[in-house]
Amino acid sequence: MSIWSWLAPRVVPPLYERLTGRRPWTEMLRLRALQWRTPEELEARALRKLRPLLTHARAHVPYYRDHFEQAGLEPGDIRTVADLARLPLIGKADLRANFPARVVADNLPGRRRGTGSTAGSTGLPFWFFTDRAGADVWIGSYLFFREWAGAALGDAIVYIPRPAHATMEEVRAARLRDLGRRILFGEQTLHLSDFEPDADELRSRLSRLPRGLPYFVWGFPSYIARLAAQLLETGTELRSYPKVVITYAETLSMLNAASIARAFRCQVVNHYSSWEVRHLAQTCPDNPDVLHVNSERAILRVVRLDGSPAAVGEAGRVVITDLANYVMPFINYDIGDWAVAGPPCPCGRGLPSLLGIEGRLGEVIRTPAGRTILPIALCRFLNIAARAHPYIWEYQAVQVAPDRVIISIVPTSRFTPHFCRELEAALTQFMGPGMEVRLEPVARIAKEPSGKRLLVKSNLDRA
Ligand SMILES: [Zn+2]
Repeated sequence: MSIWSWLAPRVVPPLYERLTGRRPWTEMLRLRALQWRTPEELEARALRKLRPLLTHARAHVPYYRDHFEQAGLEPGDIRTVADLARLPLIGKADLRANFPARVVADNLPGRRRGTGSTAGSTGLPFWFFTDRAGADVWIGSYLFFREWAGAALGDAIVYIPRPAHATMEEVRAARLRDLGRRILFGEQTLHLSDFEPDADELRSRLSRLPRGLPYFVWGFPSYIARLAAQLLETGTELRSYPKVVITYAETLSMLNAASIARAFRCQVVNHYSSWEVRHLAQTCPDNPDVLHVNSERAILRVVRLDGSPAAVGEAGRVVITDLANYVMPFINYDIGDWAVAGPPCPCGRGLPSLLGIEGRLGEVIRTPAGRTILPIALCRFLNIAARAHPYIWEYQAVQVAPDRVIISIVPTSRFTPHFCRELEAALTQFMGPGMEVRLEPVARIAKEPSGKRLLVKSNLDRA
């Protein structure tokens, strides 16, 4: 470790804040202290941030003004987080149909707008504005979660794959960020190729890092798990191992988490972020079973299909209110993911918890008997009940008809026709009456056009 890599994280942040007037590190330090407050105190803090946002949206965003009027509410009527249920849920389709005229605040200067986009489940891009004035909040959240994961400033970052940016503005911003980190902290970034990174490429890229420089991996669990499988199958050793693997953008299955941890010999952390509302939640540093939500950054509610709050342990839709975007407020925004509401975490942090994050809304199986099977349920069944993990690298369940599911699996060398038949029978029982399950060994799982791999797909939803 050079003197600069020790000194930079101590000297650069205060200097940066003095010179630019920005406060991401101050925000991170605040989060470091606030995480230990009680859930009640943290909710009260979130409410204090929510009130001015609602008042602003009521006064300056026509779309929300209509919502308040239709619901017969004033911002002051929202007195608790649960009261948000009295306002309608909104989705990408609503915002897309009203963008920009009716969903962007009419009283803020254009220079506060950052442009972003994401692919909706329909594959159509969804354009939105972020609030540049809120950047400290989400960058602070990023720094805070990074510290939780043990990925220090100055550690090299290996991206697997390269983050997909939709606009040139985003590409330029990412390049500038990389350059800034390099200059300020000596932080190096490596990008593995966007398509099929392999273990040889990983080894050769890693050999470019200075010997002894710590690094961590940031990327999609499906890509990293594929590399993990190659490393384990071939017995390939890396010159050095990462401090941590941080995954995002896809559901992290227990299978993938286990093989990544074995191959990369480190902890695997699940980071929950979306393009619209970045850096929302991450695996608890002391309890790998839960994720904590940064309640200073956003209010995240898990709700049932009728909009009422999900009970602890119950899966529901993720509904977000971004506390730092006044340009284009996201209030009661159904982001299109599922999550399981969590209990208070024994670690002592007061931040709200989630027991799991699921992929997009289409990623469920509906059985003829009326059950909804989420990826997490299938994942637990395969790992815990069927003990399938030594036999399978990866899988994807596709509901091709109301009474038929095909599960593609990438087998390990221990997989046998006998195991295949047994697992098929077990899965048929698991899915319940009226559902036929077939296993199909494949060489690889195809990715979506977005580059993501889905654990569960339903062709019924797409039709
Ligand atoms: Zn915890």
